Amino acid sequence: MKFEVTILGNSSATPMFNRNPTSQVLNINEHLLMIDCGEGTQQQLLRYGIRYNKIHHIFISHLHGDHFFGLIGLISSMSLNGRKRDLKLFGPKKLMDIIHLQLQSSDTHLSFKIDFFPLDPENTGLILETRDYTVETIPLNHRIPCTGFIFREKKRQRKILKDRVDELQIPPEYFPLLKRGIDCTDSRGKVFKALDLTEESETPKSYAYCSDTMYDKAYISRLTDVNTLYHETTFMHDMIDRAKETHHTTAIEAAQIAKEINAEKLLIGHFSARYKDLSPLLLEAKTVFEDTFIAEQGETFTI
Ligand SMILES: [Zn+2]
Repeated sequence: MKFEVTILGNSSATPMFNRNPTSQVLNINEHLLMIDCGEGTQQQLLRYGIRYNKIHHIFISHLHGDHFFGLIGLISSMSLNGRKRDLKLFGPKKLMDIIHLQLQSSDTHLSFKIDFFPLDPENTGLILETRDYTVETIPLNHRIPCTGFIFREKKRQRKILKDRVDELQIPPEYFPLLKRGIDCTDSRGKVFKALDLTEESETPKSYAYCSDTMYDKAYISRLTDVNTLYHETTFMHDMIDRAKETHHTTAIEAAQIAKEINAEKLLIGHFSARYKDLSPLLLEAKTVFEDTFIAEQGETFTI
């Protein structure tokens, strides 16, 4: 199953050095989910060839402008393109008031319905469950209410061992039961054992998105079984005082979190405009957690 994330923006606060404010698109088995939507996000979608009418879920972490100022533009373009399908939008309670005000003031009538789900920034919760995946929220520690998201693949059915079933000429009508681990018996009493004819599917993967936040044990304890962690890294560690003051994280701290939760991969982003060259941030994080990568715009990472 496909499970990957494409980075559209990795800048904090303002667009800088060709870096756009935060946005990402997850592809889970060809379902596209957008996380945050900073200014200029729709141009990034065009640049990287992602069709916005294929996006049916958008998650907004908090109401600082660098995380949602691109949303009204994107919604409006979707409508101009005649979108019909509902858009599921998850975000802080006030987000919908802001969108309503923008639409009303410009006398804009959307061609589609926005299905809005207000987030509870104080508590964890399961906010979406589909056949393929779930989405959980985690409260982050920022200057204003801010929510992180964990996207988890669901456990798949067992896989048929093609050679075995061909060899034993097992009729395909038994496959659905065998995949569920159920033994089958044919009309002559012959038993087909699920465990002999199928194998375990791959272990499901998960992706956590943590932006913006300062280091806080409370949310870190929720990041269990996360394979790929995206964590904001606004500053280098010599700026730890500034990071604490503004409720952000340093490269060392993000790497410590990845190490603590035993992640396989750490993506860092949300860089301060003070860093033109990002390699020192990467090198700093790597001193603690080797498998760290810069969340470069346009890059796609397999979870
Ligand atoms: Zn923020």
